[in-house]
Amino acid sequence: MTDDIADRAARLLHLRQQHLAKGDPVPLPITPASMFHLPGMPGGVPGYGRMDNPTWDAVEEMLTLLEAAPSLLFPSGMGAISAVMMACLNAGDRLLLPSDGYYTPRVLADRFLKNYGIEIEERPTASFAAGGFEGFAMVFIETPSNPGLDLVDIAQVSAEVRAAGGISVVDNTTMTPLGQRPLDLGADVVVASDTKAPGGHSDVLAGHVSSRSEAIIDAVRSWRTLSGGITGPFEAWMLHRSLETLEVRFDRMCTSAGIIAERLQGHLALTRLRYPGLPGDPSHNLAQVQMARSGFIIGLTLESEDKAEAFIDGCAMIQPATSFGGVHTSAERRARWGDAVPDGFVRLSVGCEPVEPLWAALKASLDRC
Ligand SMILES: *Cc1c(COP(=O)(O)O)cnc(C)c1O
Repeated sequence: MTDDIADRAARLLHLRQQHLAKGDPVPLPITPASMFHLPGMPGGVPGYGRMDNPTWDAVEEMLTLLEAAPSLLFPSGMGAISAVMMACLNAGDRLLLPSDGYYTPRVLADRFLKNYGIEIEERPTASFAAGGFEGFAMVFIETPSNPGLDLVDIAQVSAEVRAAGGISVVDNTTMTPLGQRPLDLGADVVVASDTKAPGGHSDVLAGHVSSRSEAIIDAVRSWRTLSGGITGPFEAWMLHRSLETLEVRFDRMCTSAGIIAERLQGHLALTRLRYPGLPGDPSHNLAQVQMARSGFIIGLTLESEDKAEAFIDGCAMIQPATSFGGVHTSAERRARWGDAVPDGFVRLSVGCEPVEPLWAALKASLDRC
């Protein structure tokens, strides 16, 4: 972790203190309110629950510190992604999506955006290095991609997209703002699913949009207010609580993933292993340049669907589940959702268990495959 990120993670824990009066509770209160006391003319204070909420404000203040950019909270990662698409694209625009990233944005684009007159093109993440962004109003980048863990050079691609007159949107879900800072590398917009590591306890959905462009933030906020896609105060409160421990959890998860990936190398049950932190990984050199950590997701390919399922089911310390980034190590065979990966590909999300018992359980199950 760079000093700058450490500094932000430290300041995060004292943000609220700046707002406290003597006798106020140290933890954030939940404010479930549709109405606010509003005599006279509105403005400058919360007016109505679809527009404002003090519990969201506290979460957005944390996200703004972590991203070093104005940030807006959404009820899910897809809420954030769809808001950027709806607020920033117009009929006749062209949108470039990764063909091997998280699949729901592609389904959304195909089922809805196409009907609104937006032209969609899909390309594999690995091909973004070759350029060719002329004519795109928006280029959507996911790095490391979920689930394949291919990387995009954010600085290069966002500069090329800008030169071609478009905006770059980076889905930073797999790294969190503690592991990668796309806006510092030149991206126009960050979107993320905070359902993953930021929520971290597999009990809340959330997402956010961050940008240093006032015009983009204004448009996205306006979309949120008018469409009504807002976060409930209870969910916002849960994310606030989780963000306070993100740095500790993320640090443990990434450190353990690095140890486990290294020990997995050469295991006979694996036909392929992907982890950006491994020196032999195709993503390694770029990861060293643009990522502060190597992440907590490992891609393992076993010989067959049966072996992959046996590895997952046979390990007492793997929670079989979709999604990732929780305190419990979890895994799933992504081909079960139709991702373009081998049948035996397993996305392993390393959790917060102490690493030695976790490794012992993983190894024991893999040795049986
Ligand atoms: C999970 C995920 C999303 C969607 O987030 P939700 O909170 O489920 O809406 C978007 N992008 C990536 C990379 C994800 O992993």
